[in-house]
Amino acid sequence: MADVFHVYAIRFAHRDASVRSEHFYGHDPCATDPWPISYYVWLAVSDSRAVLVDAGFTPKTAARRGNRNYLQSPTDTIRALGVDRDDISHLVLSHLHYDHSGHLADFPRAEIVLQESELSFWTSRHAGRDQLAHFVEPADVARLVEQNFAGRVRLVNGTHNVVPGVTAHHVGGHTPGLQVVQVRTAAGDVVLAADASHFYENVEQEKPYGVVTYLPAMYDAFDALHRLSSRPELIVPGHDPQVLHRFPAVPGLDGLAVRIA
Ligand SMILES: [Zn+2]
Repeated sequence: MADVFHVYAIRFAHRDASVRSEHFYGHDPCATDPWPISYYVWLAVSDSRAVLVDAGFTPKTAARRGNRNYLQSPTDTIRALGVDRDDISHLVLSHLHYDHSGHLADFPRAEIVLQESELSFWTSRHAGRDQLAHFVEPADVARLVEQNFAGRVRLVNGTHNVVPGVTAHHVGGHTPGLQVVQVRTAAGDVVLAADASHFYENVEQEKPYGVVTYLPAMYDAFDALHRLSSRPELIVPGHDPQVLHRFPAVPGLDGLAVRIA
């Protein structure tokens, strides 16, 4: 019998000096319009389990990359939600872009779950190419390689049952090994889209994001988000500031955490 989970979106940073042309693929008539972006991790908690999806980035990385408003370490917000970091049994990484893999050291007891194709790509001959390397912190990839030797990384292919009630599904498109996470809740199946849909506009209007490995896979990922969620409202985009408005704030954590289900 699968556990029933509660799901939280935890916002740890945002970047307001950003325009639409940074985010949407192809011609956009509103290319120069402001388009703020938020940065999240997601926590799924049941009576017996805690699973974290993604590991954000650190204040140090934020300072070096500039322009980012760092609110609070996701690890601190997780603690404020009543979850000890050592209680997190699994850390599922959607992909290895810098904004999803920065706090790996904060969860030393968690098994890291990642698509094998994602780690392969970021150790391949293409990884250092300027337009690809820009999105990755080499130290994060190096840490994963070390952790893999230490037996702490589960490299998966396709669909993987993380724990009963939490399932990872490979979609690709944005990066070769991008995966999304389906969580069983009392409200139905929630899908944490991460960068399979940065914003609601991507999945709701089938508008691809601007950073693309393979465009047809990005379109297929939109279909997968619909197929894997019980209702469209339960698809949670990876970077949309609207997430904070579509779901209720956790009392005492305004602007930092909302309860998805
Ligand atoms: Zn991202």
